[in-house]
Amino acid sequence: MLCYKTSSELRKSLLKREISAKELVDEAYNRIELVDEKINGLILLTKEIAYKTAEEVDKRIGIKADLPPLAGIPLAIKDNMCTKDITTTAGSNILRNFTPPYDATIVKKLHENLIPIIGKANLDEFAMGSSTETGAFGLSRNPWNTAMVPGGSSGGSAAAVASGEAVVALGSDTGGSIRLPASFCGIVGMKPTYGRVSRFGLIAYASSLDQIGPFGRCVEDVALTLQAISGHDHRDSTSADRPVPDYTANIRDNIRGLRIGVIAEMLGKGINSEVKAAIENAARVYEELGASIEEISIPHTEYAISTYYVVAMAEASSNLARFDGVKYGYRAPGAENLLKMYTKTRAEGFGEEVKRRIMLGTYALSSGYYDAYYKKAQQVRSLIKKDFDAAFERVDLLLSPVCPVTAFEIGSKTDDPLSMYLMDVCTLTANLSGLPGISLPCGFDSKGLPVGVQLIGPVLSEDLMLRAAYNFEQATDYHLRHPDI
Ligand code: GLN
Repeated sequence: MLCYKTSSELRKSLLKREISAKELVDEAYNRIELVDEKINGLILLTKEIAYKTAEEVDKRIGIKADLPPLAGIPLAIKDNMCTKDITTTAGSNILRNFTPPYDATIVKKLHENLIPIIGKANLDEFAMGSSTETGAFGLSRNPWNTAMVPGGSSGGSAAAVASGEAVVALGSDTGGSIRLPASFCGIVGMKPTYGRVSRFGLIAYASSLDQIGPFGRCVEDVALTLQAISGHDHRDSTSADRPVPDYTANIRDNIRGLRIGVIAEMLGKGINSEVKAAIENAARVYEELGASIEEISIPHTEYAISTYYVVAMAEASSNLARFDGVKYGYRAPGAENLLKMYTKTRAEGFGEEVKRRIMLGTYALSSGYYDAYYKKAQQVRSLIKKDFDAAFERVDLLLSPVCPVTAFEIGSKTDDPLSMYLMDVCTLTANLSGLPGISLPCGFDSKGLPVGVQLIGPVLSEDLMLRAAYNFEQATDYHLRHPDI
């Protein structure tokens, strides 16, 4: 099926003119027509820009001009990235009618690379969640089993790629929102180093943790997508002013002698036995590939969830203060004064989970509590970062599960936010430390649901991680299976 081809296979067909870029975009929309009703991966189709880009690609193929590697390859973006003159909702009623007057930097880069954006993908409201159930435009479903969640918060992007609606997609990852849905949907997802990809035009959730990154059905597609969106941006003061390596140049080199540390705390209590077995098997695959495996401790892992949720909610409460009915999006009608207009707008515009976080975050930042919560959390954050620094003195990469369980049933955690927050225990330490992390398919449980293994690397080690990921992928065949949807 064309819909499950990789970008390099499609590129060959494009260059040989067996298919046009327009036909490829047609294919994507046909597939969406066929399956999206079942998964609700996309909340808006952006046909006009997709076809405009495809037309440009076809023109250039006609005159044999050089084409960027992903030219003509259909991509979906999470709907918290601003697209000029195209509705950008962050999955919230408060932004239901918001059309940004500018493109996010990554959107500009997609245009420069002639990558057709086929649609805006569903998400948890303001990217707050682990299941893609909290958005204002309905929940998304897991293509492997539509009774299950796709993971979150970038669940729409992951489901779109896993079901063949898009070849690649972009998500954002604040505490695991790329890696978790990638693992639940059986695809590859990467959170780059903090600062590697510009956040300009990404609707902020928690600014010191947010990072945009790619999804694909194979490692090479993820590497090429990362290549297209990476780089310094003067519009984002936290953007890294460091050269972007060629991520596919050495991807096929072997990994003999690579030192991999398995994070002990993440294979301990609370982990599902089938997930544990798949992760241990992944470590064995790496050993067979010539890597050495040792156990590594990240001792402060046990404080990661509380630290993360204090920091993330504090930053969220401050970032979301801008949605007051004055400047953007929804304004509640009929309020008798300014204060009532603010409060009514926010009461009507935000969903439950977002309100919970604004309240908790505001509390943590309020005078008298700031030192006890926010400051303390920042101190523990430094300790977690130090744990990683120490680990990377001994090993090159770390390995762990992405999540202690596989995809869970829709609705099973919605009344219990704490159990939802626990889903992030293996992913959020990378965000707290600014480190890159990647999720790779590494097995299936007895219900046929995908399991993901995570690699975490030192700052800006994306090229090494992609090489290690590519080697694993070539030695296994989990990525070749597709959901029967
Ligand atoms: N599940 C985490 C949260 O709700 C992570 C979300 C994300 O990475 N955007 O905060």
